Amino acid sequence: MERVSTALGMPTVLPPGRPVGARPDGLADQFGRRATDLRLSLTDKCNLRCSYCMPADGLAWLKRERLLSADEIARLVRIGVDELGVRELRLTGGEPLVRADLVDIVARLRAAHPDLPISLTTNGVGLAGKAKALAEAGLTRLNVSMDTLHPGTFAELTRRPFLDQVLAGIEAADAAGLRPLKINAVLMRGVNDAHAAELLGWCLDRGHELRFIEQMPLDADHGWTRDGMVTAAETRALLGSDFALSADPRERDGAPAERFEVRRHGSPVLLGTVGIIASVTEPFCADCRRTRITAEGKVMSCLFSRTEVDLLGLLRSGAADSDVAARWRAAMWAKPKAHGMGHPGLGDADFVQPDRSMSAIGG
Ligand code: SAM
Ligand code: SF4
Repeated sequence: MERVSTALGMPTVLPPGRPVGARPDGLADQFGRRATDLRLSLTDKCNLRCSYCMPADGLAWLKRERLLSADEIARLVRIGVDELGVRELRLTGGEPLVRADLVDIVARLRAAHPDLPISLTTNGVGLAGKAKALAEAGLTRLNVSMDTLHPGTFAELTRRPFLDQVLAGIEAADAAGLRPLKINAVLMRGVNDAHAAELLGWCLDRGHELRFIEQMPLDADHGWTRDGMVTAAETRALLGSDFALSADPRERDGAPAERFEVRRHGSPVLLGTVGIIASVTEPFCADCRRTRITAEGKVMSCLFSRTEVDLLGLLRSGAADSDVAARWRAAMWAKPKAHGMGHPGLGDADFVQPDRSMSAIGG
């Protein structure tokens, strides 16, 4: 029998006669989950330097030839959809808008997969000039990351003075029909946490869906601390100054965000919803449906995985689609049960921060 060890130090025995990588049932893992949501990173490059993600001086960028080409991206998505049960695609990075062939990539994926939901996560810098072309190319949806509406705080957090460009990008995306827009925000204590309710009010007024993401230990500087992060519970309390939140009755259905209906205190009028992604304090690993591929073609079964499985070398060696699919399946079969932070009874003892920063994984 074959043994596979997981991040939580619990070796699991695989059934005999079923070698890893020979499973017909999509991207299944040994804990009964199946990944159907592909997060594909298009580049490790970025034009911002968010303190929770990248170091001030940036990182050494990958050479162009080490990145997945448009052809390789199209092939991997086809294998994912046709052979492995991928049902949803999100393009991310680094900053995907810095990739010159982004609109072509979206158009090509749309032509090959007319019904596949294709979304993009972007920091919004340069989006104003590309939103219309992305919508016309067939993009389904956009997430724009914006942590504050205050130019000084934005510049402090991202180390770049580009808030106006992000706001213009959001407006252009809305005008291009890429609705509903989702806005992602990470709260940092003493920096932008006091702006949480204001940001929610701004999003509600415009019909955008705001999602707060707990800061995860994926910063290149390794400066994250559990005490320093703003928790989901604190975020709910911060929003409570202006708004009454109640659990959204809709089924969560594997979504990372816990959604809340938002009203003014004492008012029955529903203003909209807000999502809170509590990856650290209220982990949702048991329902995870994600599989990730980095910009250099490595499968990561989890954001916090310290194991990467190379597909690019295989693609370039002339391997058949079935070989690529088998290696992708094997990588996902070994997905750890949980990331090791915040699980009842486990504490953080099993958690080791990955070497890669969020920008180099693809959030
Ligand atoms: N550059 C694009 C952007 O910022 O939207 C796409 C890539 S970025 C890595 C994807 C998302 O990850 C962003 O919403 C960002 O705020 C979030 N993110 C980055 N580092 C994070 C961290 N350490 N903890 C939580 N979220 C993080
Ligand atoms: Fe760039 Fe996005 Fe990371 Fe900010 S969060 S540094 S925009 S990759």
